[in-house]
Amino acid sequence: MAAIHAARQGARVAIVEQKDWGGTCLNVGCIPTKALIQSAEVLKAVRGAAEFGVRVGEPAVDWPSMQARKDRVVSGLRLGVQSLLKANGVELVSGRGRLRPGAVVGVDGRDLGATSVLLAPGSLAARPPFPGADLALDSDGVLTIERLPRTLCVIGGGVVGMEFASCFDLLGVKVVVVEMLDQLLAPLDPDMARRFQQLMTRRGIEFHLSARVEKVERAGGAYRVSLEGRRLEADLVLVTTGRRPATDGIGLEESGVERDRAAIKVDEHMRTSAANVYAIGDATAISMLAHTASYQGEVAVGNALGSKSISADYRAVPACIYTDPEIAYVGVSEAQARASGQEVKVGTFPFTALGRALVLGETAGMVKVVADREGYLLGVSIVGPRATDLIAEATLALSQGLTAAELAHTVHAHPTLPEALFEAALDVDGQAVHVAPKKQTLK
Ligand SMILES: Cc1cc2nc3c(=O)[nH]c(=O)nc-3n(C[C@H](O)[C@H](O)[C@H](O)COP(=O)(O)OP(=O)(O)OC[C@H]3O[C@@H](n4cnc5c(N)ncnc54)[C@H](O)[C@@H]3O)c2cc1C
Repeated sequence: MAAIHAARQGARVAIVEQKDWGGTCLNVGCIPTKALIQSAEVLKAVRGAAEFGVRVGEPAVDWPSMQARKDRVVSGLRLGVQSLLKANGVELVSGRGRLRPGAVVGVDGRDLGATSVLLAPGSLAARPPFPGADLALDSDGVLTIERLPRTLCVIGGGVVGMEFASCFDLLGVKVVVVEMLDQLLAPLDPDMARRFQQLMTRRGIEFHLSARVEKVERAGGAYRVSLEGRRLEADLVLVTTGRRPATDGIGLEESGVERDRAAIKVDEHMRTSAANVYAIGDATAISMLAHTASYQGEVAVGNALGSKSISADYRAVPACIYTDPEIAYVGVSEAQARASGQEVKVGTFPFTALGRALVLGETAGMVKVVADREGYLLGVSIVGPRATDLIAEATLALSQGLTAAELAHTVHAHPTLPEALFEAALDVDGQAVHVAPKKQTLK
């Protein structure tokens, strides 16, 4: 994104990649996981077909074909990225880059000198320090398994862990999740996290919260995961306890680029401590999302090539979680707003009361809108059907500084899922239409 952006602004651009064009997101992150999740959702739809009056035979999981489809989606996009870069006149350099003092990048004996260098080396799956952690697969490894396990233990109840947990559960795998904190998916609104956990528990996923893994061992053909005072057995163990910026051995120290632990330190203009060197994406550990990386790329390129300074603003960055049901949030949660001492007004709306959700047969979940005293939006969180699409409207409203009333005075098409956001925004002032009034004043 940054390379194409810079090329479109007239710069001569080279991009260096050591492995697969498209990085984590395209090759082992956003895209392959969502392709597998889509297969699981098709299975769910076929299983539930009778409810809609459609009779089909018992569906079967063809895991190798699901994997093959996922690989086709990824390889198609990977080729697409390369042709897009070339079409924009960007020079593609394959090899491992190393920064040298004075905004020079060395790649396999060749020196690329530039006016500005943009560092975007991304991140790698981190492994916790307990014994046997290397027996577990990480998110890269689990994307290439040849057979589905009967039982899966997921260590880490964050976004990556919960997306795999939900997907494998839909595919018929018995899933157990172990999380060190007392809630899943932090910093999601605790109410929404609890509601989501209840839905997952009802579906058969087993959770161990506030639980620390002591060790993982082989046990016959399977694995034994020891927690304090409890042992779990599983055919496969997946560790999803976070990612670490991939910033070692790329010449940062000798070039004067400072780090905070592994993360490259940047200011709001995406500038590092070295002149004309910028950094973006997971390597800065600011948010570890693909769209944040793209946005930071736009800011960095604007500052490197433009005449006026642009600052990154993270107040309206949506976070999307592709579980079933989906989850999405933007801005601050009710708990975060209250913890910062703010007086807040909250509106909610359940999907059970929404026509479109009933039509789709997807009524689990709700929308929660948080506003300040004057009604200005502070945050929105959604658990429910197509939450990852619905959050776009909330993001626009928040980024434009709208009030809940302004959102609610926008005409929403009927019957649609965004009406849930509209109703939750109305509920901020107790005006939601399709639920009983909060306070009845009978005369
Ligand atoms: C399983 C999983 C699911 C995810 N799902 C989502 C999602 O749904 N939505 C979302 O927003 N985010 C998702 N993410 C996060 C997202 O993938 C990252 O935030 C995003 O890829 C970060 O982009 P980046 O450009 O900073 O780094 P990366 O995408 O990691 O790219 C860095 C690239 O730099 C290369 N590189 C590193 N060092 C060098 C060097 N010295 N020389 C040359 N090349 C080098 C690497 O090979 C890599 O290709 C997911 C991540 C994972 C692991």
